[in-house]
Amino acid sequence: MATAAAAVIDTDVVVIGAGPAGLYAAFQLGLQELDTHVVDSLPHAGGQCAELYPDKPIYDVPGLPAVSGRELTQRLLQQLRPLAVPLHLGQVVAHLQADGVDAPSAPGRWRLRTAGELQFAARAVVIAAGVGAFLPRRLAVPGLQAWEGTQVHYDDPPPQSWLDRHVVVTGGGEAAVRLALRLAEAGAARVTLLHRTDRFAIEAALDEQLQSAIGAGWIRLCLGQPIGALAGEDGSLQALEIATERDERLSLPLDLLLPRLGLHPRLGPIADWGLALERKHLLVDPLTLQTSHSGIHAIGDVVHYPGKRKLIVCAFHEATLAAFAIAERLRGGPVPLEYTTTSPRLLALLRGAG
Ligand SMILES: Cc1cc2nc3c(=O)[nH]c(=O)nc-3n(C[C@H](O)[C@H](O)[C@H](O)COP(=O)(O)OP(=O)(O)OC[C@H]3O[C@@H](n4cnc5c(N)ncnc54)[C@H](O)[C@@H]3O)c2cc1C
Repeated sequence: MATAAAAVIDTDVVVIGAGPAGLYAAFQLGLQELDTHVVDSLPHAGGQCAELYPDKPIYDVPGLPAVSGRELTQRLLQQLRPLAVPLHLGQVVAHLQADGVDAPSAPGRWRLRTAGELQFAARAVVIAAGVGAFLPRRLAVPGLQAWEGTQVHYDDPPPQSWLDRHVVVTGGGEAAVRLALRLAEAGAARVTLLHRTDRFAIEAALDEQLQSAIGAGWIRLCLGQPIGALAGEDGSLQALEIATERDERLSLPLDLLLPRLGLHPRLGPIADWGLALERKHLLVDPLTLQTSHSGIHAIGDVVHYPGKRKLIVCAFHEATLAAFAIAERLRGGPVPLEYTTTSPRLLALLRGAG
């Protein structure tokens, strides 16, 4: 529920997703001088490029013979910088609904709300949600969600919640190991790392740090699979029931549980916004990238139209056409083509770029 105090951000356009499609759309919308805000569920920009393959070279981005996912993201952010588009990161857009008239002569407004209680009123929306919002994988233990936000945290809890407490971190990847090391150094009373095996999917240097923390007794390793949650008399989460490799049962007492099982993309709320879909992709007009609702456009991996290719270069093209279509609709007439090389208006906007 939105709090009465939450201020509504009034803007021309909200872009949902800060992957390559969303970042480039924000740039093109900025060139159209449309007030634009970008929202992404991840704590950083770059979408799949940053989350799934940050260090792999991409060879088919025009003009960049080889660029890593991370570097492409940095370059897109650098290109966007002169246009000062606000990025709201770590925010899942959960609700989108019409707010006002919706006719070509009088474009309506769209209300958007994030799970983190940010609210927007926008004249147009660009959905650049890719394969969906990257959200933490939940620990599949019956009843555990009852303690989410109090003793079970999928994001970083405030220090006062783990200082002098017994914290259990579960997971076998870098995020779990780094968090366990950080908490052990920063003052948690006891840190247990819970994982199925004693093999972790981490680089050798990090594994060395982990082994020395285990050797020094800063981190205790617990091997097994959590299968149940045990409540105390006061209703708090007291312990996890663990099945070991030898199929024995043991109880792991805890104050705080921090599952770090990786992220997975979920289209989630977007599928419930009443927009026409084809096999979980938003149907768009390839000329304007408009969805089945006027004022809502979609670009990048989340869309379908005849001939669609899920490539970054195609997302850039779609972002450009969507920005022109939105500008024409909001201004009520044709928008002339201008070159960034020669247009005094665009040069003034981009002054300071590069
Ligand atoms: C391993 C791999 C290699 C690839 N190599 C290439 C290549 O060589 N060349 C190429 O052209 N393409 C490549 N691709 C494909 C390319 O990465 C995608 O086409 C591109 O990332 C699509 O960009 P996007 O912005 O549409 O979506 P994404 O990159 O998926 O970004 C979407 C963003 O939207 C956010 N989001 C979704 N829903 C919400 C919501 N409700 N609220 C807030 N935020 C939300 C997500 O968190 C995400 O950050 C590769 C993909 C993979 C997985």
